[in-house]
Amino acid sequence: MRNISRVLKDCKENLSTQELELVRDLESKGLCKINQIEYIDCSDPNDDDYFQVIDKDCSGTIVVEESQISYICDKCHRDIYIHDKNIKMNNIIYLDYSKIYEFVRDEFRKVIGGSARKKVMV
Ligand SMILES: [Zn+2]
Repeated sequence: MRNISRVLKDCKENLSTQELELVRDLESKGLCKINQIEYIDCSDPNDDDYFQVIDKDCSGTIVVEESQISYICDKCHRDIYIHDKNIKMNNIIYLDYSKIYEFVRDEFRKVIGGSARKKVMV
């Protein structure tokens, strides 16, 4: 469980197999949802169009839609064609805060149960 903070903090980075298992376990408990997305980076030396990129430091990242073949970078506004790019995969983790609240509440109830309520009443 100690990898949770890293998983949540770095959820935009690719997850290791162990971290992905952890997130899948949390997802099975209904505490989060994981979506895999495909994306391209505007400027990537491994892409065929890298020599055309004027701003080689552009940090633009674009989520790929299945039917779309051309994009415009939000940051540098250049045209990008999908056939020039290496498509990458990433994981986006969405936390379900109401389920997390219920889970923590239920865990507390298991530990302190009615005895805590009695102490509060006294
Ligand atoms: Zn760009």
